[in-house]
Amino acid sequence: MTEMDTARLRARVIEVAREMNARGINVNKSGNVSARACRAAADGFVITPTGVPYETLRPEDLVFVPLAEPLSVRDAIGRYLPSSEWEMHARVYLARPDIEGVVHTHSAYATALACQEMPIPAFHYMVACAGGASIDVAPYRTFGSSELAQEAAAALKARNACLLAHHGVLAAASTVEKALVLAAEVENLAHQYAIVRTLGTPKLIEEDEMQRVIEKFRTYGQPQKRLSGNETGGSE
Ligand SMILES: [Zn+2]
Repeated sequence: MTEMDTARLRARVIEVAREMNARGINVNKSGNVSARACRAAADGFVITPTGVPYETLRPEDLVFVPLAEPLSVRDAIGRYLPSSEWEMHARVYLARPDIEGVVHTHSAYATALACQEMPIPAFHYMVACAGGASIDVAPYRTFGSSELAQEAAAALKARNACLLAHHGVLAAASTVEKALVLAAEVENLAHQYAIVRTLGTPKLIEEDEMQRVIEKFRTYGQPQKRLSGNETGGSE
């Protein structure tokens, strides 16, 4: 159920934004974080503002953006402007009613693959943590544009994470904390995949085995929740 826009929810978003930098999956203010929230009768989300360092962010600095068509930054409520990628977050929430948190980063290895327009194939079973047998690349569009927002949302129709060509990573989940864990896992997989490629042509897991893994993640569920305790370690 969608949470109310409270100081507690805003504090969680700030915590995730700071954690993103602490974990080294984001540099400076290039990333952004949001959580779905409702405010009185309005459905929307709270998102990090543009141009404010995470260290000094306070709950009241986050911006509430209503999810009402036509989307407009003029409808945003807050003392700052929302992140320049606010529409990308908005389109994901509109396309995926099950999503409650979104994290966007420019983490190094995942972004390097995105710059080469290289998807991450099934070289490791954990690729299934994004909900499919690969982590794909959404086509390049100008940062902050409606076109990028549309492409990103389309890429997240059938996955919970994607690479954004020549840009970065987008991860979405049932909580903002799980979206962070997923973004970190995508970076981990991208790093491993870059190493594997230096060892030769990557050997891939068969499609039917990946379907079993995807089903197992779905059935036993919440790989992201489990990962939050031990992100790189065994998920068996
Ligand atoms: Zn970006």
